[in-house]
Amino acid sequence: MDCVFCKIVDHEAHAEILYESEHVLSFLDINPVNFGHTLVITKKHYDDFLSVPREELDHIIRAVQSISGVIQSKLNCDGFNIVINNGIAAGQTVRHFHFHIIPRYHNDDFRFKLNLKKYSDNLMKEYADKIRAELKI
Ligand code: AMP
Ligand code: ZN
Repeated sequence: MDCVFCKIVDHEAHAEILYESEHVLSFLDINPVNFGHTLVITKKHYDDFLSVPREELDHIIRAVQSISGVIQSKLNCDGFNIVINNGIAAGQTVRHFHFHIIPRYHNDDFRFKLNLKKYSDNLMKEYADKIRAELKI
């Protein structure tokens, strides 16, 4: 499989690696939204969030929390976004599951372009019913 993140895991492609454990690898994003923009990936290849086994999620979410804390304190950022893009429509360009940790500063130039919708009449309940009906956690 031609996956750039698998190549980084196998040390066949270079990355500025921040952290490596048995299950997780973290490195700087090559095209940062802000400097210090970090990726955290599962070492095993999973296409996206829904295909990651729960034990793997446990490992990666702990790493994301620790790395975020260090980014906040060492880069002195005012906040950070944790982002997972799933699918092309959502902006996923690398089909190997990963979290983004994006350091944020007051008045930085990163903006989500939002066009907020309004639910009409019963529509909010209809959407909630569709989701609720299948929820088994
Ligand atoms: P996404 O759009 O959510 O799939 O994010 C993929 C991210 O991977 C983008 O922000 C890219 O800049 C980043 N990226 C792609 N190739 C590399 C690479 N070789 N080293 C570091 N980051 C990369
Ligand atoms: Zn991969």
